[in-house]
Amino acid sequence: MKIIVLGAGTIGISTAWHLLQRGHDVTVIDRQPNAALETSFANGAQISVSYCEPWANRDAPLKALKWMLSKEAPLLFRPQNPFGEGFRQYLWGLQFLANCNDRAFERNVQQLVALGSYSHAALKDIVAETGMEYNRLERGIAHFYSDQKSFDTAGEAAELMRKYGVDRRVVSKQEFLDIEPAYRAYADSIVGGTFTPGDESGDCLVFTQKLAELCKAKGAELLYGYSVTALKPSSGARGAMHSVAIQAVSTSSTAPSHMEIHKADHIVVACGSYTAPLLRTVGVSLPIYPGKGYSATFQILKPEQAPWVSTIDDSKKVAISRLGDQLRVAGTIEVGNYDLTLESDVARARCHMLSRRIEEVLPGVCDTRTAEQGGQPNYWTGLRPATPTNIPYIGQTPVRGIWVNAGHGTLGWTHGAGSGKALAELMSGHTPELAFQFYGT
Ligand SMILES: Cc1cc2nc3c(=O)[nH]c(=O)nc-3n(C[C@H](O)[C@H](O)[C@H](O)COP(=O)(O)OP(=O)(O)OC[C@H]3O[C@@H](n4cnc5c(N)ncnc54)[C@H](O)[C@@H]3O)c2cc1C
Repeated sequence: MKIIVLGAGTIGISTAWHLLQRGHDVTVIDRQPNAALETSFANGAQISVSYCEPWANRDAPLKALKWMLSKEAPLLFRPQNPFGEGFRQYLWGLQFLANCNDRAFERNVQQLVALGSYSHAALKDIVAETGMEYNRLERGIAHFYSDQKSFDTAGEAAELMRKYGVDRRVVSKQEFLDIEPAYRAYADSIVGGTFTPGDESGDCLVFTQKLAELCKAKGAELLYGYSVTALKPSSGARGAMHSVAIQAVSTSSTAPSHMEIHKADHIVVACGSYTAPLLRTVGVSLPIYPGKGYSATFQILKPEQAPWVSTIDDSKKVAISRLGDQLRVAGTIEVGNYDLTLESDVARARCHMLSRRIEEVLPGVCDTRTAEQGGQPNYWTGLRPATPTNIPYIGQTPVRGIWVNAGHGTLGWTHGAGSGKALAELMSGHTPELAFQFYGT
Protein backbone atom coordinates (compact mmCIF):
# COMPACT_ATOMS: atom_id res chain seq x y z
CA MET A 1 0.00 0.00 0.00
CA LYS A 2 1.10 3.56 -0.64
CA ILE A 3 1.04 5.44 2.68
CA ILE A 4 1.84 9.07 3.48
CA VAL A 5 2.87 9.88 7.04
CA LEU A 6 2.37 13.53 7.97
CA GLY A 7 4.86 14.60 10.63
CA ALA A 8 8.46 13.51 11.19
CA GLY A 9 8.49 13.72 14.97
CA THR A 10 9.36 10.65 16.96
CA ILE A 11 5.81 9.29 16.44
CA GLY A 12 5.71 9.81 12.67
CA ILE A 13 9.18 8.36 12.11
CA SER A 14 8.50 5.34 14.29
CA THR A 15 5.25 4.77 12.35
CA ALA A 16 7.14 5.04 9.05
CA TRP A 17 9.77 2.54 10.24
CA HIS A 18 7.20 -0.07 11.22
CA LEU A 19 5.19 0.43 8.02
CA LEU A 20 8.37 -0.11 5.97
CA GLN A 21 9.11 -3.26 7.99
CA ARG A 22 5.73 -4.56 6.82
CA GLY A 23 6.50 -3.88 3.17
CA HIS A 24 4.54 -0.66 2.58
CA ASP A 25 5.57 2.16 0.28
CA VAL A 26 6.06 5.16 2.60
CA THR A 27 6.44 8.92 2.16
CA VAL A 28 6.99 11.17 5.19
CA ILE A 29 6.21 14.88 4.96
CA ASP A 30 7.33 17.53 7.46
CA ARG A 31 7.64 21.30 7.38
CA GLN A 32 11.01 21.26 9.14
CA PRO A 33 14.35 20.65 7.38
CA ASN A 34 14.92 17.39 9.31
CA ALA A 35 13.14 14.96 11.64
CA ALA A 36 12.39 15.71 15.31
CA LEU A 37 12.85 19.47 15.20
CA GLU A 38 9.65 20.33 17.09
CA THR A 39 8.42 18.64 20.31
CA SER A 40 10.74 15.65 19.94
CA PHE A 41 13.78 17.95 19.93
CA ALA A 42 14.89 18.46 23.55
CA ASN A 43 12.55 16.60 25.88
CA GLY A 44 13.34 15.08 29.27
CA ALA A 45 14.93 12.02 27.58
CA GLN A 46 13.20 9.55 29.89
CA ILE A 47 11.81 6.22 28.75
CA SER A 48 9.44 6.25 31.61
CA VAL A 49 7.25 3.16 31.44
CA SER A 50 6.86 3.10 35.19
CA TYR A 51 6.29 6.79 35.91
CA CYS A 52 3.35 7.28 33.61
CA GLU A 53 0.62 8.66 35.85
CA PRO A 54 -1.57 11.17 34.02
CA TRP A 55 -1.78 14.76 35.27
CA ALA A 56 -5.54 14.29 35.76
CA ASN A 57 -5.98 12.92 39.27
CA ARG A 58 -8.20 13.66 42.26
CA ASP A 59 -5.82 16.35 43.64
CA ALA A 60 -5.13 18.09 40.31
CA PRO A 61 -8.01 20.66 40.27
CA LEU A 62 -7.11 22.12 43.65
CA LYS A 63 -3.39 22.13 42.90
CA ALA A 64 -3.97 23.74 39.48
CA LEU A 65 -6.03 26.51 41.10
CA LYS A 66 -3.32 27.16 43.68
CA TRP A 67 -0.59 27.09 41.02
CA MET A 68 -2.36 29.68 38.83
CA LEU A 69 -0.72 32.34 40.98
CA SER A 70 2.83 31.11 40.36
CA LYS A 71 4.84 31.64 37.16
CA GLU A 72 7.01 28.63 38.06
CA ALA A 73 4.18 26.20 38.87
CA PRO A 74 4.56 22.66 37.46
CA LEU A 75 1.07 22.87 35.88
CA LEU A 76 -0.18 26.25 34.74
CA PHE A 77 -3.59 26.82 33.16
CA ARG A 78 -3.50 30.09 31.20
CA PRO A 79 -7.10 30.92 30.25
CA GLN A 80 -7.67 32.00 26.64
CA ASN A 81 -10.50 34.06 25.18
CA PRO A 82 -13.48 31.68 25.33
CA PHE A 83 -15.17 33.48 22.44
CA GLY A 84 -12.36 32.78 19.97
CA GLU A 85 -10.38 29.59 19.36
CA GLY A 86 -9.88 29.58 23.13
CA PHE A 87 -13.17 27.75 23.65
CA ARG A 88 -11.30 24.54 22.72
CA GLN A 89 -9.14 25.08 25.77
CA TYR A 90 -12.24 25.17 27.99
CA LEU A 91 -13.66 22.04 26.35
CA TRP A 92 -10.31 20.33 26.93
CA GLY A 93 -10.30 21.59 30.54
CA LEU A 94 -13.76 20.15 31.18
CA GLN A 95 -12.71 16.77 29.84
CA PHE A 96 -9.58 16.97 31.98
CA LEU A 97 -11.74 17.66 35.06
CA ALA A 98 -13.95 14.68 34.21
CA ASN A 99 -10.82 12.51 34.53
CA CYS A 100 -9.83 13.89 37.93
CA ASN A 101 -11.21 10.98 39.96
CA ASP A 102 -9.80 7.66 41.14
CA ARG A 103 -11.78 5.50 38.72
CA ALA A 104 -10.69 7.40 35.62
CA PHE A 105 -7.15 7.67 36.95
CA GLU A 106 -6.79 3.89 37.40
CA ARG A 107 -8.37 3.21 34.01
CA ASN A 108 -5.96 5.65 32.35
CA VAL A 109 -2.93 4.27 34.21
CA GLN A 110 -3.79 0.77 33.03
CA GLN A 111 -3.80 1.90 29.37
CA LEU A 112 -0.60 3.90 29.77
CA VAL A 113 1.26 1.01 31.42
CA ALA A 114 0.11 -1.40 28.68
CA LEU A 115 1.28 0.96 25.93
CA GLY A 116 4.50 1.70 27.82
CA SER A 117 5.50 -1.96 28.20
CA TYR A 118 4.66 -2.76 24.58
CA SER A 119 6.60 0.30 23.50
CA HIS A 120 9.64 -0.49 25.59
CA ALA A 121 9.86 -3.92 23.95
CA ALA A 122 9.49 -2.29 20.51
CA LEU A 123 12.27 0.19 21.33
CA LYS A 124 14.59 -2.61 22.44
CA ASP A 125 13.86 -4.47 19.19
CA ILE A 126 14.80 -1.42 17.10
CA VAL A 127 18.03 -0.96 19.05
CA ALA A 128 18.89 -4.66 18.74
CA GLU A 129 18.19 -4.64 15.01
CA THR A 130 19.94 -1.38 14.14
CA GLY A 131 22.64 -1.14 16.82
CA MET A 132 21.74 2.51 17.16
CA GLU A 133 23.62 4.80 19.59
CA TYR A 134 21.78 7.76 21.14
CA ASN A 135 23.32 8.28 24.60
CA ARG A 136 21.13 5.50 25.96
CA LEU A 137 21.48 4.75 29.68
CA GLU A 138 19.75 1.63 31.00
CA ARG A 139 20.04 2.54 34.67
CA GLY A 140 16.41 3.00 35.71
CA ILE A 141 14.74 6.20 36.86
CA ALA A 142 14.99 7.47 40.44
CA HIS A 143 12.52 9.95 41.90
CA PHE A 144 13.48 12.10 44.88
CA TYR A 145 11.25 13.96 47.30
CA SER A 146 12.15 16.94 49.42
CA ASP A 147 8.74 17.25 51.05
CA GLN A 148 7.65 14.68 53.66
CA LYS A 149 3.93 15.01 52.90
CA SER A 150 4.48 14.21 49.23
CA PHE A 151 6.84 11.34 50.06
CA ASP A 152 4.16 9.87 52.35
CA THR A 153 1.95 9.34 49.27
CA ALA A 154 4.72 7.60 47.28
CA GLY A 155 3.90 4.20 48.78
CA GLU A 156 0.28 4.32 47.64
CA ALA A 157 1.31 5.28 44.08
CA ALA A 158 3.97 2.53 43.98
CA GLU A 159 1.41 -0.02 45.14
CA LEU A 160 -1.01 1.00 42.39
CA MET A 161 1.72 0.70 39.76
CA ARG A 162 2.77 -2.72 41.10
CA LYS A 163 -0.84 -3.84 40.58
CA TYR A 164 -0.24 -3.33 36.85
CA GLY A 165 3.08 -5.17 36.86
CA VAL A 166 5.34 -2.14 37.23
CA ASP A 167 8.37 -2.59 39.49
CA ARG A 168 8.38 0.68 41.45
CA ARG A 169 10.15 0.55 44.80
CA VAL A 170 9.93 3.07 47.62
CA VAL A 171 13.47 3.77 48.86
CA SER A 172 14.87 5.55 51.89
CA LYS A 173 17.01 8.65 51.52
CA GLN A 174 20.15 6.54 51.98
CA GLU A 175 18.99 3.99 49.43
CA PHE A 176 18.27 6.79 46.97
CA LEU A 177 21.79 8.19 47.48
CA ASP A 178 23.27 4.71 47.00
CA ILE A 179 21.41 4.48 43.66
CA GLU A 180 22.54 7.95 42.59
CA PRO A 181 25.30 9.44 44.79
CA ALA A 182 25.52 12.61 42.67
CA TYR A 183 22.82 14.21 44.84
CA ARG A 184 24.92 13.94 48.03
CA ALA A 185 25.37 17.70 48.28
CA TYR A 186 21.57 18.07 48.43
CA ALA A 187 21.11 15.15 50.86
CA ASP A 188 19.93 17.29 53.81
CA SER A 189 16.84 18.30 51.84
CA ILE A 190 15.96 14.85 50.49
CA VAL A 191 13.43 12.85 52.54
CA GLY A 192 13.23 9.73 50.37
CA GLY A 193 12.56 8.44 46.91
CA THR A 194 11.30 5.75 44.61
CA PHE A 195 13.14 3.73 41.98
CA THR A 196 12.08 1.93 38.82
CA PRO A 197 15.05 -0.17 37.69
CA GLY A 198 13.48 -1.14 34.36
CA ASP A 199 13.24 2.40 32.98
CA GLU A 200 15.92 4.14 30.94
CA SER A 201 16.91 7.36 29.19
CA GLY A 202 18.35 8.50 25.88
CA ASP A 203 18.31 11.27 23.32
CA CYS A 204 15.00 11.33 21.43
CA LEU A 205 16.34 13.76 18.81
CA VAL A 206 19.35 11.60 17.94
CA PHE A 207 17.29 8.40 17.92
CA THR A 208 14.58 9.87 15.70
CA GLN A 209 16.95 11.44 13.20
CA LYS A 210 18.95 8.21 12.92
CA LEU A 211 15.77 6.17 12.50
CA ALA A 212 14.63 8.60 9.80
CA GLU A 213 17.90 7.99 7.91
CA LEU A 214 17.34 4.24 8.25
CA CYS A 215 13.81 4.70 6.88
CA LYS A 216 15.33 6.46 3.88
CA ALA A 217 17.81 3.63 3.41
CA LYS A 218 14.85 1.22 3.41
CA GLY A 219 13.23 3.17 0.58
CA ALA A 220 11.06 5.80 2.30
CA GLU A 221 10.74 9.18 0.64
CA LEU A 222 11.38 11.95 3.17
CA LEU A 223 9.94 15.28 2.06
CA TYR A 224 11.28 17.90 4.44
CA GLY A 225 10.56 21.60 4.23
CA TYR A 226 6.93 21.15 3.12
CA SER A 227 3.94 22.35 5.08
CA VAL A 228 0.72 20.40 4.75
CA THR A 229 -1.92 22.90 3.67
CA ALA A 230 -4.91 20.64 2.96
CA LEU A 231 -6.12 17.08 3.23
CA LYS A 232 -8.62 15.84 0.67
CA PRO A 233 -10.19 12.47 1.44
CA SER A 234 -10.86 10.19 -1.51
CA SER A 235 -14.29 10.26 -3.17
CA GLY A 236 -14.87 6.75 -1.86
CA ALA A 237 -14.93 5.32 -5.39
CA ARG A 238 -13.06 2.03 -5.88
CA GLY A 239 -9.33 2.66 -6.25
CA ALA A 240 -9.65 6.38 -5.45
CA MET A 241 -6.83 7.85 -3.41
CA HIS A 242 -6.55 10.47 -0.67
CA SER A 243 -4.74 13.70 -1.53
CA VAL A 244 -2.44 15.91 0.49
CA ALA A 245 -1.63 19.44 -0.65
CA ILE A 246 1.80 20.65 0.45
CA GLN A 247 3.64 23.90 0.08
CA ALA A 248 7.39 24.43 0.28
CA VAL A 249 8.33 26.41 3.36
CA SER A 250 9.55 29.63 1.86
CA THR A 251 13.15 30.61 2.43
CA SER A 252 12.66 33.99 0.78
CA SER A 253 9.95 36.56 1.30
CA THR A 254 9.73 37.38 -2.42
CA ALA A 255 9.84 34.02 -4.26
CA PRO A 256 6.44 32.26 -4.50
CA SER A 257 6.56 28.95 -2.67
CA HIS A 258 6.21 25.77 -4.58
CA MET A 259 3.02 23.65 -4.19
CA GLU A 260 2.46 19.94 -4.82
CA ILE A 261 -0.31 17.38 -4.49
CA HIS A 262 0.56 13.87 -3.27
CA LYS A 263 -1.77 10.89 -3.34
CA ALA A 264 -1.88 7.71 -1.29
CA ASP A 265 -4.13 4.80 -0.32
CA HIS A 266 -3.77 5.76 3.34
CA ILE A 267 -2.67 8.81 5.28
CA VAL A 268 -1.35 8.90 8.84
CA VAL A 269 -1.61 12.20 10.68
CA ALA A 270 1.21 12.37 13.25
CA CYS A 271 1.60 16.14 13.52
CA GLY A 272 1.84 16.34 17.31
CA SER A 273 -0.11 19.32 18.69
CA TYR A 274 -1.06 20.39 15.16
CA THR A 275 -2.92 17.13 14.51
CA ALA A 276 -6.21 18.43 15.89
CA PRO A 277 -6.50 21.53 13.64
CA LEU A 278 -5.48 19.48 10.59
CA LEU A 279 -8.01 16.72 11.26
CA ARG A 280 -10.76 19.25 11.90
CA THR A 281 -10.48 20.21 8.21
CA VAL A 282 -11.85 16.73 7.34
CA GLY A 283 -14.49 16.81 10.05
CA VAL A 284 -12.63 14.84 12.74
CA SER A 285 -12.50 16.51 16.15
CA LEU A 286 -10.03 15.27 18.76
CA PRO A 287 -9.18 16.87 22.14
CA ILE A 288 -5.46 17.28 21.53
CA TYR A 289 -4.28 20.59 22.94
CA PRO A 290 -0.77 22.08 23.25
CA GLY A 291 0.86 21.73 26.67
CA LYS A 292 3.92 23.95 26.62
CA GLY A 293 7.01 22.64 28.40
CA TYR A 294 10.59 23.81 28.79
CA SER A 295 14.05 22.34 29.00
CA ALA A 296 17.62 23.48 29.51
CA THR A 297 20.69 21.54 28.40
CA PHE A 298 23.89 22.36 30.24
CA GLN A 299 27.49 21.46 29.58
CA ILE A 300 28.74 19.20 32.39
CA LEU A 301 31.78 20.71 34.10
CA LYS A 302 32.48 17.87 36.56
CA PRO A 303 31.70 14.55 34.83
CA GLU A 304 32.64 12.49 37.89
CA GLN A 305 30.01 14.32 39.97
CA ALA A 306 27.17 14.30 37.43
CA PRO A 307 24.33 11.78 37.76
CA TRP A 308 24.15 8.69 35.55
CA VAL A 309 20.73 7.60 36.70
CA SER A 310 17.93 9.66 35.16
CA THR A 311 15.97 11.34 37.96
CA ILE A 312 12.74 13.17 38.73
CA ASP A 313 12.77 16.01 41.21
CA ASP A 314 9.31 15.75 42.74
CA SER A 315 9.07 19.24 44.18
CA LYS A 316 9.59 20.92 40.78
CA LYS A 317 8.29 17.98 38.71
CA VAL A 318 11.31 18.10 36.43
CA ALA A 319 13.26 15.28 34.78
CA ILE A 320 17.06 15.34 34.90
CA SER A 321 18.94 13.18 32.39
CA ARG A 322 22.56 12.85 31.37
CA LEU A 323 23.16 12.88 27.63
CA GLY A 324 26.88 12.29 27.11
CA ASP A 325 28.73 15.36 28.31
CA GLN A 326 25.52 17.35 28.78
CA LEU A 327 22.80 17.38 31.42
CA ARG A 328 19.18 17.97 30.39
CA VAL A 329 16.56 19.25 32.82
CA ALA A 330 13.00 19.41 31.53
CA GLY A 331 9.48 19.83 32.73
CA THR A 332 6.49 21.99 33.67
CA ILE A 333 3.32 22.25 31.61
CA GLU A 334 1.44 25.36 30.57
CA VAL A 335 -1.98 24.83 29.03
CA GLY A 336 -2.36 28.03 27.03
CA ASN A 337 -2.09 28.22 23.25
CA TYR A 338 0.33 27.44 20.42
CA ASP A 339 2.79 30.13 21.49
CA LEU A 340 6.44 28.99 21.46
CA THR A 341 8.09 32.08 22.84
CA LEU A 342 10.97 31.94 25.28
CA GLU A 343 10.80 35.70 25.75
CA SER A 344 7.68 36.24 27.90
CA ASP A 345 7.91 36.82 31.67
CA VAL A 346 6.45 33.39 32.37
CA ALA A 347 8.80 31.65 29.92
CA ARG A 348 11.83 33.42 31.37
CA ALA A 349 10.77 32.59 34.93
CA ARG A 350 10.32 28.92 34.03
CA CYS A 351 13.68 28.67 32.25
CA HIS A 352 15.54 30.38 35.07
CA MET A 353 13.86 28.06 37.54
CA LEU A 354 15.44 25.11 35.66
CA SER A 355 18.93 26.62 35.94
CA ARG A 356 18.45 27.58 39.58
CA ARG A 357 17.18 24.16 40.50
CA ILE A 358 20.13 22.34 38.94
CA GLU A 359 22.49 24.63 40.85
CA GLU A 360 20.60 23.79 44.07
CA VAL A 361 20.55 20.01 43.68
CA LEU A 362 23.88 19.54 41.86
CA PRO A 363 25.94 22.61 42.85
CA GLY A 364 28.84 23.39 40.54
CA VAL A 365 28.38 20.28 38.39
CA CYS A 366 27.21 22.08 35.24
CA ASP A 367 27.67 25.44 33.59
CA THR A 368 24.27 26.90 34.51
CA ARG A 369 25.12 30.48 33.63
CA THR A 370 22.51 32.33 31.60
CA ALA A 371 23.39 33.79 28.18
CA GLU A 372 23.68 37.25 29.82
CA GLN A 373 26.27 35.78 32.20
CA GLY A 374 28.21 34.26 29.29
CA GLY A 375 26.73 30.75 29.56
CA GLN A 376 24.88 28.58 27.06
CA PRO A 377 21.90 27.02 28.84
CA ASN A 378 20.20 25.98 25.56
CA TYR A 379 16.75 26.87 26.80
CA TRP A 380 14.08 25.28 24.67
CA THR A 381 10.33 24.99 24.61
CA GLY A 382 8.01 22.46 22.98
CA LEU A 383 4.28 21.84 22.76
CA ARG A 384 3.26 18.48 24.16
CA PRO A 385 0.29 17.13 22.23
CA ALA A 386 -1.80 16.74 25.35
CA THR A 387 -5.08 14.86 25.75
CA PRO A 388 -7.23 15.15 28.89
CA THR A 389 -6.38 11.53 29.81
CA ASN A 390 -2.75 11.55 28.63
CA ILE A 391 -3.73 8.64 26.39
CA PRO A 392 -2.88 9.08 22.70
CA TYR A 393 -5.19 8.51 19.74
CA ILE A 394 -3.88 5.60 17.70
CA GLY A 395 -6.10 4.17 14.97
CA GLN A 396 -8.35 4.92 12.04
CA THR A 397 -10.47 8.08 12.08
CA PRO A 398 -14.11 8.01 10.96
CA VAL A 399 -12.77 9.06 7.52
CA ARG A 400 -11.77 5.68 6.08
CA GLY A 401 -8.10 5.55 5.15
CA ILE A 402 -7.13 8.54 7.30
CA TRP A 403 -5.37 7.38 10.42
CA VAL A 404 -4.06 9.18 13.47
CA ASN A 405 -1.07 8.65 15.75
CA ALA A 406 -0.99 11.65 18.07
CA GLY A 407 -1.78 13.00 21.51
CA HIS A 408 1.15 11.44 23.39
CA GLY A 409 1.42 14.35 25.80
CA THR A 410 4.14 13.92 28.41
CA LEU A 411 5.16 10.46 27.19
CA GLY A 412 5.70 10.56 23.43
CA TRP A 413 9.33 9.42 23.59
CA THR A 414 8.38 6.57 25.93
CA HIS A 415 5.41 5.50 23.83
CA GLY A 416 6.81 6.31 20.37
CA ALA A 417 8.25 2.99 19.26
CA GLY A 418 5.18 1.02 20.36
CA SER A 419 2.67 3.53 19.00
CA GLY A 420 4.34 3.31 15.60
CA LYS A 421 4.39 -0.47 15.73
CA ALA A 422 0.79 -0.78 16.89
CA LEU A 423 -0.52 1.54 14.17
CA ALA A 424 1.49 -0.28 11.49
CA GLU A 425 -0.02 -3.56 12.75
CA LEU A 426 -3.54 -2.16 12.57
CA MET A 427 -2.97 -0.72 9.09
CA SER A 428 -1.64 -4.10 7.94
CA GLY A 429 -4.80 -5.83 9.14
CA HIS A 430 -3.38 -7.32 12.36
CA THR A 431 -4.41 -6.88 15.98
CA PRO A 432 -1.55 -5.51 18.11
CA GLU A 433 -0.82 -7.64 21.15
CA LEU A 434 -1.66 -5.29 23.97
CA ALA A 435 -4.71 -4.40 26.05
CA PHE A 436 -5.26 -0.89 24.69
CA GLN A 437 -8.33 0.93 23.42
CA PHE A 438 -7.36 1.86 19.87
CA TYR A 439 -9.16 4.78 18.30
CA GLY A 440 -11.99 3.76 16.03
CA THR A 441 -12.18 0.17 17.28
C1 LIG B 1 9.58 19.78 28.19
C2 LIG B 1 9.18 18.42 27.69
C3 LIG B 1 9.71 17.29 28.30
C4 LIG B 1 9.33 16.03 27.85
N1 LIG B 1 9.92 14.93 28.41
C5 LIG B 1 9.59 13.69 27.99
C6 LIG B 1 10.23 12.55 28.53
O1 LIG B 1 11.14 12.64 29.36
N2 LIG B 1 9.80 11.33 28.12
C7 LIG B 1 8.80 11.18 27.19
O2 LIG B 1 8.42 10.04 26.89
N3 LIG B 1 8.23 12.26 26.61
C8 LIG B 1 8.59 13.51 26.98
N4 LIG B 1 8.00 14.60 26.42
C9 LIG B 1 6.93 14.42 25.43
C10 LIG B 1 7.44 14.10 24.03
O3 LIG B 1 8.54 14.93 23.72
C11 LIG B 1 6.30 14.30 23.02
O4 LIG B 1 5.17 13.58 23.42
C12 LIG B 1 6.72 13.83 21.65
O5 LIG B 1 7.88 14.49 21.22
C13 LIG B 1 5.59 14.06 20.64
O6 LIG B 1 6.05 13.58 19.40
P1 LIG B 1 5.21 13.83 18.08
O7 LIG B 1 5.94 13.14 16.99
O8 LIG B 1 3.79 13.51 18.34
O9 LIG B 1 5.25 15.42 17.90
P2 LIG B 1 6.40 16.33 17.24
O10 LIG B 1 7.73 15.90 17.66
O11 LIG B 1 6.01 17.74 17.51
O12 LIG B 1 6.26 16.01 15.71
C14 LIG B 1 5.20 16.51 14.91
C15 LIG B 1 5.80 16.87 13.58
O13 LIG B 1 4.74 17.31 12.73
C16 LIG B 1 5.21 18.37 11.94
N5 LIG B 1 4.05 19.16 11.52
C17 LIG B 1 3.07 19.67 12.28
N6 LIG B 1 2.15 20.31 11.52
C18 LIG B 1 2.59 20.22 10.24
C19 LIG B 1 2.10 20.67 9.00
N7 LIG B 1 0.96 21.37 8.89
N8 LIG B 1 2.82 20.40 7.89
C20 LIG B 1 3.98 19.70 7.94
N9 LIG B 1 4.50 19.22 9.10
C21 LIG B 1 3.81 19.49 10.22
C22 LIG B 1 6.15 19.14 12.86
O14 LIG B 1 7.12 19.87 12.10
C23 LIG B 1 6.78 18.03 13.70
O15 LIG B 1 8.03 17.63 13.19
C24 LIG B 1 8.38 15.89 26.82
C25 LIG B 1 7.87 17.02 26.18
C26 LIG B 1 8.27 18.28 26.61
C27 LIG B 1 7.73 19.50 25.90
